[in-house]
Amino acid sequence: MNSALLDLDEKIIALDVWHLAVPVVSRRDHGIGTVADSIEVVILRLTSESGKVGYGEASPWSVFTGTPEGNFAALDRYLRPNVVGKKLSEFEDTMALAQRAVVHATEAKAALEAAWLDLAGKILSRPVWQLLGEKCRSTIPLSCSLANPDFEQDIALAERLVDDEVGYIKLKTGFKDHAFDMMRLEHMKTHFPSLTPRIDYNQGLSVDDALKYVPEIDRLDPSFIEQPVAYHEYEAMTELRKLTKNPLVADESIFGPEDMKWALAENISDGVSIKIMKSGGMKRGMQVAEMAAGAGLPAYGGDMFETGLAHLAGVHMIAVAPNITLGCEFYQATYYLEEDLLVDPFPIENGEVIVPDAPGLGMELDEKKLEKYCVKAS
Ligand SMILES: [Mg+2]
Repeated sequence: MNSALLDLDEKIIALDVWHLAVPVVSRRDHGIGTVADSIEVVILRLTSESGKVGYGEASPWSVFTGTPEGNFAALDRYLRPNVVGKKLSEFEDTMALAQRAVVHATEAKAALEAAWLDLAGKILSRPVWQLLGEKCRSTIPLSCSLANPDFEQDIALAERLVDDEVGYIKLKTGFKDHAFDMMRLEHMKTHFPSLTPRIDYNQGLSVDDALKYVPEIDRLDPSFIEQPVAYHEYEAMTELRKLTKNPLVADESIFGPEDMKWALAENISDGVSIKIMKSGGMKRGMQVAEMAAGAGLPAYGGDMFETGLAHLAGVHMIAVAPNITLGCEFYQATYYLEEDLLVDPFPIENGEVIVPDAPGLGMELDEKKLEKYCVKAS
């Protein structure tokens, strides 16, 4: 950690939590479930003695990482006693305590870390990336996922992405049938040659179907194929690697460093999708990236259904993780929410996400939106 943080004596005096439902523009289908109408996120605000505030976001999905109710309780009830009254210098100890205070709730721990470092960064006038490590990039290529069951609407989105100079798309597959997946990939390759396609099944295939369908989709040359089978099907992942020439990326199989150890031992993938909501924060995500680098595997900056606030934490992590070379998918704030929670637009230029250099996470949250979209507050 940056030594300036270790000297920060100012204390945290308040912890506030909001459960929000933030409206979205369309339905999206994935191999493991559907999102429609709104995404549910939990926002954490920490206040220090000098009245400065820091924000973090937990972005759970009940079929993937956890529930908003569980993450709200994790922050409001189980982590609160370890946070209020602490000096900001006690960051490492507090995060270690958080690991033991409540099992799982990785999204809540990511929110705690982000809010803590946002607050510390604002007091120290340093960006979060500077508290985490050495900056290795200032921009991150953006990928946008296409998951609308109405393919015509995804075609309209793809046209907008081309106009915006976005270079990558990820087709969500395995939620309808194989012919639909093949048709969409062929269509995108033929009609949108500037968009490099990736495939993500989100565990949507049975092992038997994966052994039949994944080699066929591989013949259309997506630039990688993500998580065709259930998270625990390590043997099938290893087998699929032998049947495909394009890289196989693991997502749901690898939450944090503990899973990464097994994944590497079993050789389940050619790359890994790293998400702060799975790992339990930026620092643990960086650990996964380092383990991947040690094995010669590239990493991808994945996300959950997030607002721009959670995206920002992911951006600061990728800014200091040299091995996350496959870009990021922080598209929801711009292309999926009816409106984001940040005051200013999430920073994307020419298809690249810009790493903020302003203090903390680098952008302001619009507090009026906390009231507007509130389901429950602490
Ligand atoms: Mg995925």
